[in-house]
Amino acid sequence: GNYREWEVSRVRTTCPHCGVGCQLDLIVKGDEIVDAQAVNGPSNAGLLCVKGRSGSFDFVNSPDRITSPLVKNRETGEFEPVSWDDALALVAERFGAIKAEHGGESIAAFACSRSTNEDIYMLQKMARCAFDTPNIDNCARVCHAPTVAGLVTTLGSGAMTNSIEDVCEQAQVILLVGSNPEEAHPVMGMRIRRAVERGAKLIVVDPRDIGLASKADIHLKLRPGTNVAFANGMAHAIIAQGLADKEFVENRTEGFEEFAAMVADYTPEKVAEICGIDADDLVQAATMYAKADRAPIIYCLGVTEHSTGTEGVMSMSNMAMVCGKLGKPGCGVNPLRGQNNVQGACDMGAGPADFTGYQKVANPDVLAKFETAWGVKMNRTPGLMATECFPAMIDGRIKALFLFGEDPVRTDPDTHHVIHALESLDFLVVEELFMTETAKYADVILPGRSYAEKEGTFTNTERRVQRVRKAVKGPDGPRLDTEVFAEIMRRMGYDQPSLSASQIMEEIASLTPSYAGISHARLDGAQVAGRGIQWPCPSEDHPGTAIMHVGQFSRGKGGYSLAQYRPSAELPNAEYPLMLMTGRVLAQYNACAMTGRTEGLNEIAGESFIELNSVDAEQLGVADGDRVRVSSRRGEIETTARVSSKTNPGQTWMPFHFQDGNSNWLTNAALDPTAKVPEYKVCAVKVEAI
Ligand code: SF4
Repeated sequence: GNYREWEVSRVRTTCPHCGVGCQLDLIVKGDEIVDAQAVNGPSNAGLLCVKGRSGSFDFVNSPDRITSPLVKNRETGEFEPVSWDDALALVAERFGAIKAEHGGESIAAFACSRSTNEDIYMLQKMARCAFDTPNIDNCARVCHAPTVAGLVTTLGSGAMTNSIEDVCEQAQVILLVGSNPEEAHPVMGMRIRRAVERGAKLIVVDPRDIGLASKADIHLKLRPGTNVAFANGMAHAIIAQGLADKEFVENRTEGFEEFAAMVADYTPEKVAEICGIDADDLVQAATMYAKADRAPIIYCLGVTEHSTGTEGVMSMSNMAMVCGKLGKPGCGVNPLRGQNNVQGACDMGAGPADFTGYQKVANPDVLAKFETAWGVKMNRTPGLMATECFPAMIDGRIKALFLFGEDPVRTDPDTHHVIHALESLDFLVVEELFMTETAKYADVILPGRSYAEKEGTFTNTERRVQRVRKAVKGPDGPRLDTEVFAEIMRRMGYDQPSLSASQIMEEIASLTPSYAGISHARLDGAQVAGRGIQWPCPSEDHPGTAIMHVGQFSRGKGGYSLAQYRPSAELPNAEYPLMLMTGRVLAQYNACAMTGRTEGLNEIAGESFIELNSVDAEQLGVADGDRVRVSSRRGEIETTARVSSKTNPGQTWMPFHFQDGNSNWLTNAALDPTAKVPEYKVCAVKVEAI
């Protein structure tokens, strides 16, 4: 950066982009952040990716920040700045009126998985105590909700079992399934590459030639949507070769006989046929994984974002249990959570079925505990999940929505459907940093504070709670998000005092056994400074938990999933002959609201494209770089063709970051029946030359 050391100060904080949770110093000159530098944190070991290095501060000072509350003029459709007092009065009055007329269950609130734990806790408290609604959710619904639901069922806890350092430094074999960490979790990708360089073997299970596939010992380039068949086939091959860990299976798991009978059908030949892979490669992968002492499974949205996502997740834990690879160093089942604080959003109770720390709303004792602590009687209607809320907006069951820092018009499947839902609302409030595509549909926009303007914590993918610190004052106008929520609560008649972030964490700890020993003071103190604390952390003298399920699963004995392979909801046909998958690229993050304010990142990756296999491209008469029209049953876009052999013939891939030519005009909102995650990873499309 362009500064001298004596004119700046350094503020230690956590990267605001992905779930790796890299530690960095923001370099502050005056009241401006001029640079970001890597420091040695437990998950990043001194590394940062391009997003953390150059995309973590430009957006803070961006002239595009919204700095005043805005209210839409009903006649002109234009937003007009209003005072905070007028905006908050309107928000409280409208939510109050809708609650009085239609009941709290006609309101929904979505939390922001980019914001701090303290913000999210207050948001869900506002929804439950002031709006009186059970409809509270966060964007995990469209990514890792199957992880939470699936691993709770089989292991008793829906989070990464081991730590980043542990799986990268200890592993002898890494089984990487439906995960492209070099783009989506780049520092994790770097650490996996290092693991391979020091001699670890790598098995990549992915329909594309992702970067790490070139380093893999085995690449199973399976057909999208066939993870359950793959995992059942692995278990079959492991059991058939006598490589199951008999002692672990007997002592630590239940239902093995039924499971073994179920996978008996999944012969290598049959699985090879379903997945479009080589039967010998499958057996070799199963052998390599089973024989290693230390072999983690690492997976991501390629497993979860399917109409069979929960079954896919549970089938990952099947493989680990059969081989006894849980509760040990360098092993486990390790979902890579997407956003910086999507783990925290789930931990903080921003879901309709859970209070903080996955304490169940349906459990009368838990409900009584929270009602006593918060001094309210809560709405008993079962809550809707975010993906169920959109249809409910269209049919009138949901009339008002409070949307905190989410951009579903860009990020949720079937954009026409999302817009129709938002337009059906009587009242939409968006709390945001920028005028996003979604914010344009709001009645009221409240300006928020960025991560660099507040104190708090993020919880990264390995359950590590780490500090976020105020580096700058930020633009004049926005208020602290926790203050805005408290003020709305008070105006709606709920007596919520103003609390600092550290006081809010005290309240969280007092109500949440897995966070009971976590406080800002402790995170800042010598004992854990710079390393954060991994939950479960049940008391103030507990060091936190690096490896879960040691000796015993959270649910007692581990359970197997008996899920059979089911095909994806929408498969190619004569009219839509190609399969479309979606995913991320390195230089951008999600809807680009933050990374898109950095010139350098837009120069590296600023436009939509579609990857086509060269065989398909030739048939379509499309050359690399040509403009093409892509359509599905739901919509149509134009984009640029990238022709290669990265995907197999019949399969295509697009990033979902870019507004022009966004893949979500095409994607299918077919839901997983358990976790209600949409099937982003498989839909049927047609590609035509323009
Ligand atoms: Fe930030 Fe993730 Fe990159 Fe680390 S890997 S610097 S957390 S975006």
